[in-house]
Amino acid sequence: MQLAGFSLLDYRHLLETALEQNYNFYTVAEYFTADSIESPSIVLRHDVDRRVGNAVAMAELETELGIDATYYFRTSTFEPSIASRMETEGHEVGYHYEDLAKARGNVNRSHARFAANLESFRQHVSIETICSHGSPLSPHLNTDMWKDARTPADYDLLGKAYDIEAAADGSDDRVYFSDTGRDWNASVPGIGAIHETDDVIRALESGDCSAVYLLAHPSRWSTSHFQRVERPSWDLAAETGKALVGGVHAIQQTGGHVAEQTRIVQALRTLAGTGTPRSERE
Ligand SMILES: [Zn+2]
Repeated sequence: MQLAGFSLLDYRHLLETALEQNYNFYTVAEYFTADSIESPSIVLRHDVDRRVGNAVAMAELETELGIDATYYFRTSTFEPSIASRMETEGHEVGYHYEDLAKARGNVNRSHARFAANLESFRQHVSIETICSHGSPLSPHLNTDMWKDARTPADYDLLGKAYDIEAAADGSDDRVYFSDTGRDWNASVPGIGAIHETDDVIRALESGDCSAVYLLAHPSRWSTSHFQRVERPSWDLAAETGKALVGGVHAIQQTGGHVAEQTRIVQALRTLAGTGTPRSERE
C-alpha cells in the first residue's frame, strides 16, 4: 500500500523534528570513521535509483538545514557535475553498485566492471563507501560478488552501507527506517507500527529512538504538488506496465492533447517502446 506523507515538505518536517530533538547526523563514511557516535544519532542514506532531480532537491534541503547525508549513485544516475557539487556541499557520494547482475553472475567480470566503474566515479568525487542495488529482474544478488576472497578494502573502501544494517539487527540497537514501497513499515518498541512519515516523526519525538539508520530513496518522494498527485499513478504504471501498453496505443489513437502531456502517458510511452524498464525498483 502506498501512503501519504512522502512529499519534500514531509521530509523537511522530519529533518526539522530531528534537529529540534538534537539528533546528530552522520554520513555512512562518518559512521565508519568517527571516534565515537554522539547520541542521539541518525545515519542518513539515499539510494539514487532514478530521478536525479529529486536527489538534488533533497540534498539542497539538507544543505539548507546544515545536514550531511550519503548519496549512492548508480552508473545510470551518476552525473559528475551533480555528484561533485553534492560533495562540495558536504554530502558523501558513494557507489550504488550492481555489477554482478550486469555481469550475469560472473564474479570475475563483476569485479572488473566494479573496478572500472569505481575508477570512473573517482575521476570526479572521492568514493569511500558502497551500497548494493537490488536488481529485481536478475537472479543474482549483487552482494554475492564479495563471496570470493576480495573485499571492499582491496578497493580502498571503508565499507558497505549494508554493514550498518547488519549491525542494526545485532550488536547495536540502531532502528532501521526505510521508505521502500513508500511505507516505512517498521515497528518501534513503545511506539508501535511505523508506516507514514508522521509515524517516524512521532518516533523521533518520543526519545525512545536514540540510534536511527534512515534510508530514503529520492525517487519515491514528490518534490512538488504536481508530482504528489501524479507519481502514484506512475508507480502503478511501472508495476503493471506491460498490461497497460495496449492502453497507451488507445490513448494515442484518441489523440487527447491534454493527456499527452502528463507524466503517466510519458511513462506509458517509455514502457510501450522498451517494455518494463529494468532496475526501476531499488
Ligand atoms: Zn537501488
